Amino acid sequence: MDNLPRVNANGRIGPVDAAQVPRYAGAATFARLPRLDQVERAEVAVVGVPFDSGVSYRPGARFGSNHIREASRLLRPYHPELDASPFENLQVADAGDMAVNPFNINEAIETVQQNALDLTEHGTKLLTLGGDHTIALPLLRAAAERAGSPVAMLHFDAHLDTWDTYFGAEYTHGTPFRRAVEEGILDTDAISHVGTRGPLYGRKDLEDDRRFGFGILTSPDVFRQGVDEVVAKLRDRIGNRPLYVSVDIDVLDPAHAPGTGTPEAGGLTSRELLEILRGLRGLNLVGADVVEVAPAYDHADVTAVAASHVAYDLITLMGLTA
Ligand code: MN
Ligand code: MN
Repeated sequence: MDNLPRVNANGRIGPVDAAQVPRYAGAATFARLPRLDQVERAEVAVVGVPFDSGVSYRPGARFGSNHIREASRLLRPYHPELDASPFENLQVADAGDMAVNPFNINEAIETVQQNALDLTEHGTKLLTLGGDHTIALPLLRAAAERAGSPVAMLHFDAHLDTWDTYFGAEYTHGTPFRRAVEEGILDTDAISHVGTRGPLYGRKDLEDDRRFGFGILTSPDVFRQGVDEVVAKLRDRIGNRPLYVSVDIDVLDPAHAPGTGTPEAGGLTSRELLEILRGLRGLNLVGADVVEVAPAYDHADVTAVAASHVAYDLITLMGLTA
């Protein structure tokens, strides 16, 4: 009753028809798309990772994936800025949530990596809804394995996430990209942070980060240079390499994303973030995640609405890959 399939002219099953079933009715899948088991094959799978055992400050991102799904009910099938209908040309489906061990981070990372490899076995691209940022490491491992080479990465975040350890722990939400560089799964000629800001432990944090190969466009850089210049610099660095995009929702100012674990003042607006993403049109986007949405600190679904639009734009970009 609440999940009438809507097959389009291209043979893809799109979202439940909002003229037939109200948007707020029924169980939530991302953008009211079919579940993975309702389609023969997905070109893009949306998957949740309800895991937040790697956080260093406020917990709660384990509830993020379903919070984003609930806020995604209002997404409509046509994207005017990119002149694209992502669900017409691609079969997109919701693969549900990975069942990840909350008491054992090493096992959780193995599970995410294996699940990501399983889901992408036949060329399906993955858009992952977190969960905390720890999960980017196993997702990048899977992306690099599927690409057959290290991948370029754009990392949107208030934070570098290239710290070494916390309390001796190597695998946390503040360390995934240092591990990824150490493991050789990132193409260090084409990795950049965008939107970083806020106090660090010391200048060494930045020196280490530069040594790993990261370029940085800080949140003040985005403000001073503007979206177009930022996009031009990012495109120049990435070229046609296989690209993974990781979006920590705390890249947005707390005014635009209060529902997150480690908020920092002075962030991007949701408009700036979406415009930068749209500027990536045509790049070879092979995978993406949206992480660190923690609904307990959200107000009026502000953060979840932003995250659902970011996810929608990332899916649209996957369909516009050259
Ligand atoms: Mn962050
Ligand atoms: Mn992060």
